[in-house]
Amino acid sequence: MQWKGRRASSNVEDRRGMGGMGGGKLIGGGVGGIILVIIVMLMGGNPGDMLQRMGTAGTSTSAPYTQTAQEQELAEFVSVVLADTEDVWTRLFQERGLTYTKPTLVLFTDSVQSACGAAASSMGPFYCPGDHKLYIDLSFYDQLQREFKAPGDFAMAYVIAHEVGHHVQTLLGTTGKLDPLRKSLSQTEYNKIQVRFELQADYLAGVWAHFAESMNLLDEGDLEEALTAASAVGDDTIQRRAQGRVVPESFTHGTAEQRMRWFRQGYQSGDMNGGDTFSAGNL
Ligand SMILES: [Zn+2]
Repeated sequence: MQWKGRRASSNVEDRRGMGGMGGGKLIGGGVGGIILVIIVMLMGGNPGDMLQRMGTAGTSTSAPYTQTAQEQELAEFVSVVLADTEDVWTRLFQERGLTYTKPTLVLFTDSVQSACGAAASSMGPFYCPGDHKLYIDLSFYDQLQREFKAPGDFAMAYVIAHEVGHHVQTLLGTTGKLDPLRKSLSQTEYNKIQVRFELQADYLAGVWAHFAESMNLLDEGDLEEALTAASAVGDDTIQRRAQGRVVPESFTHGTAEQRMRWFRQGYQSGDMNGGDTFSAGNL
């Protein structure tokens, strides 16, 4: 992908080297902070004192993260990709009379605290609708190459664009409609809905790639890199490798073939309204 020297997004929060609690910022603001205040008050203490002490402890553990040259380049790359998604989705939302609120990309190492709970790097990149943030440990790039056999910068761009797709789903109200179903449906039935939800995020990643292509940002082989990555993170591919067999009822993201196909459809059409995976009879 053509990215060097191009605009990088300022909506990047660097929490690398800060550890799982994400530094001092979340203490006091998160749900844990509120509970802590209540407990301290019940015990007759001064919550202000307590939070101040906690805050100090939090900042003293967050030493500046020393990044390698490769990590620095990767951090710059994902910031440019994020900026490209901002440009494309701002325009597409404007065309529909809507406002695109830009998400924040959080870089972390090992583990992180989000409004959706704590997460480890091993769970892979994710988006949290509760705080409108994308969370990524850049070591996932190596994992894509080594474990998933999906090398190349555009494989990583696809991952970012997929998570941004979840942000778009949140802004359009799709994500909110899923919550009640999580409680009312059986796990197997909910998994089927989630597959449609994930394939739509792949479609939306493809829509972004369509516009990246029209801006001449794609190199030869970039589309294949994205498709290889989409295939590598298909439920069947992952299950076959991890457990040697495939259990379709437990699919949550769709098969390799489905993920590639919905990404490709978004890429070919560039139409953000065209990815209605929820009505599609045949996924
Ligand atoms: Zn997803």
